[in-house]
Amino acid sequence: MSSMLRSIHIVGNIARRAFRPIYGTRLMSAYVDPLSGQPAELPDIQHGRLIIDKNEQPTPPPPSETLVFGRTFTDHMLTIEWSATNGWEAPHIKPYGPLNLAPSSSVLHYAQTLFEGMKAYRTDDDRIQLFRPDMNMKRMNNSARRIALPTFNGDSLLELIKKLIRMDRHWVPKEPGHSLYIRPTLIASQQAIQVSPPTEAILFVICSPVGPYFPKPVSLYATTEYIRAAPGGTGAFKLGVNYAPAVMPQKMVAEKGYSQNLWLHGPEHYLTEVGTMNMFVVLKKDDGDLEIVTPPLDGMILPGITRDSVLQLLRDHISGTRPIRGLDKGEKLAVSERGITMKEVKDASQTGKLVELFGAGTAAIISPVHKIGYLNEDIEIPTGPDGMGRIARAVRKELSDIQWGKISHPWSVPVDE
Ligand SMILES: *Cc1c(COP(=O)(O)O)cnc(C)c1O
Repeated sequence: MSSMLRSIHIVGNIARRAFRPIYGTRLMSAYVDPLSGQPAELPDIQHGRLIIDKNEQPTPPPPSETLVFGRTFTDHMLTIEWSATNGWEAPHIKPYGPLNLAPSSSVLHYAQTLFEGMKAYRTDDDRIQLFRPDMNMKRMNNSARRIALPTFNGDSLLELIKKLIRMDRHWVPKEPGHSLYIRPTLIASQQAIQVSPPTEAILFVICSPVGPYFPKPVSLYATTEYIRAAPGGTGAFKLGVNYAPAVMPQKMVAEKGYSQNLWLHGPEHYLTEVGTMNMFVVLKKDDGDLEIVTPPLDGMILPGITRDSVLQLLRDHISGTRPIRGLDKGEKLAVSERGITMKEVKDASQTGKLVELFGAGTAAIISPVHKIGYLNEDIEIPTGPDGMGRIARAVRKELSDIQWGKISHPWSVPVDE
């Protein structure tokens, strides 16, 4: 920017702020409190400061059967700007539309972007509810910390997300298995092609109505050519930087006739994740009891909310606190968060001890796996007549009944006031 342009820009910014009454007192005190002379605490996200610009040209939601995942967006979005000098600005709900980003914005060069994925569900009696949204808010703050983006008050953001959903309430589909997918995102927006902590950022939330995933069994390609995550890396955070490198391996897998990458780790070929889902393996132990195994949160595994929920449901079932309908109370089950290698899976398959394998994530809930291609061999995995194993089916039903409000549970959070 030329210096003249820059001064116009600065004057413009000051004028813009001076005309917002709420900033009147802040104008000179961005860094220093005029009374104490101490650095002033910068404002956090405050839902009470929300400014609403209603979309005057709303579009009717398309018929649900035409929905393609992540292609259709609702009438409104939420944006909140942040700067190192002013902290979080007033939140803004406005018509869904383009962001104003300079080509020098650092997100466009160094992938300083992170996101969340959550859903709003419509119940049979027409309430709208979220599933454990506090976990998304915590995880989003953890992701922000990892790439030096600003953190924020998650409760306040959640109030704003609820408000956004209420404004676009008619976009939450009514059909069974459908939902409104919510995508909170945080990007570094300062104009500087320099690798450094951002001085400006934009948090935005967009919403997309989505159809159901049928729990059709998928095939996996145990990928030895590429990795998703490594010790000390960023695999445990929902950062944009983790996803672009997985697109080409996904294409490769599709060309080989499989549906997803099974991501491995280390020379032992530990199983880590399935595509963009966490995973569970059900094994029959020597005494005939079942062991349900998922890889531990060792820094390479994304701490999925579905993963955590599946673990908790199973543990509550095992302890008798809250039995999972559809699972036999007398049956002996054990749950382990431990490493599991391809050798163990292959051996279990050969001795008839591989009972089930499934992925778990917000989008598909539970995704049963029927086959793993590994070093030029196919390992077959049993699935039931409907394509799901017994454990996968029972856990999926329990989770979705909670999510769509067919059974009440403290994990459900109402959106309506
Ligand atoms: C989002 C995500 C998951 C699943 O997390 P949920 O909170 O259950 O939706 C698992 N693995 C990866 C890599 C992810 O990005």
